[in-house]
Amino acid sequence: METFDELYYREPYAREFDARVTSCTAADEGFAIELDQTAFYPTGGGQPGDRGTLTVGSGEDALVVSVREAIPGKGTGEVIHLVDATLPVGASVHGSLDWTWRRDNMEAHTGEHIISGIVHALFGYNNVGFHMGERCIEVDFDGVLTPEDVLDVERRANAAVREDVRVEALLPSPDELASLDYRSKKDHEGQIRVVRIAGVDSCACCGTHVSSTGQVGLIKILRLTTKKKRTRLELLCGRRALEACEKAMQSLRETSNFLTVGDEEVPEAVRRLSAEKDELKHQLKQAGHAQIEQFVATLAPKDSLAVCCLPGLDVEDLRYLCECVLERTPATVCAGISPVEGDDSRLAYVMASSGADLRAACKELNARLGGRGGGKPQMVQGSWATTLEVAESAIREILG
Ligand SMILES: [Zn+2]
Repeated sequence: METFDELYYREPYAREFDARVTSCTAADEGFAIELDQTAFYPTGGGQPGDRGTLTVGSGEDALVVSVREAIPGKGTGEVIHLVDATLPVGASVHGSLDWTWRRDNMEAHTGEHIISGIVHALFGYNNVGFHMGERCIEVDFDGVLTPEDVLDVERRANAAVREDVRVEALLPSPDELASLDYRSKKDHEGQIRVVRIAGVDSCACCGTHVSSTGQVGLIKILRLTTKKKRTRLELLCGRRALEACEKAMQSLRETSNFLTVGDEEVPEAVRRLSAEKDELKHQLKQAGHAQIEQFVATLAPKDSLAVCCLPGLDVEDLRYLCECVLERTPATVCAGISPVEGDDSRLAYVMASSGADLRAACKELNARLGGRGGGKPQMVQGSWATTLEVAESAIREILG
């Protein structure tokens, strides 16, 4: 039965410790080592396991790659350290934790309690899913939160951080437990460990936490997504939250410098730029249409079929070209062709008619010219893998 007297529970701030190797066996990707005591937290309760090194005497450091419980979830206290080198059974070892990693996880875990406790108190929603990653912590709630709710939760969470409330791990007796109000995901067997942050949250938890909320430093909710009456919050705490804010400020600074505006003017400046771009695109389109109209004015088709080969036209331009030809010349069928931009081997085409069904001809041309595409009876479009000369003579043969 779990007694919570492992070193990582008794002394969650222990970064270094001494122990004795009790077993060492070859594992898939290294060696599975057990010690008579350990400060390495094994993966569990949503919190990733610790990393670090184990060293025998003045020998080289063996890298601790991952740490897990021998029987996951059973709390037998037996911890397996997956290490990249063999260590002699019986040897004294010095363990050293990757403290940045562990501290990040303690800040993250404590921050998650603060957020979950506040959401539960304000809205009655339960934390129904929890994942602690390096990029962010994901917390799922069984209810819908709005962006305004989330901002309120974040502000309250950071107020709890500034108040620097104690974070305690309680091991209550069954009687004491009966009188405790705490959040719990499942019915635990044996001793329950309740992590209490006075006035903020009480929750059954087997993770490691900082000893007061002030040490979380900062809680930043990055993203809110709602789906099927559930809400997922992505957040960062402590050092990782600060780092994310630094990066966000850096991006903002680069953008505001580039736009030569103040930070707070960036959204408006980007909207303005986007509107200018749309206006220029519109003007460019109009200039393109004017050119097409000029070209059509020079056409004097002798018969009812016009084949127009023009460079630099997209499908929309080709459609406009066909419409102009049908409207302004005696032609009743028009084929507009232009080399596909960025692909020398293909031609874009649009064919339009003032009455005739072009679909059969389109199919035949596609088959003959390695093409694809189709459309409505009087307007087909697509591309062919051929040259302008071959395309023009095929069109004249089939539609002429
Ligand atoms: Zn916890």
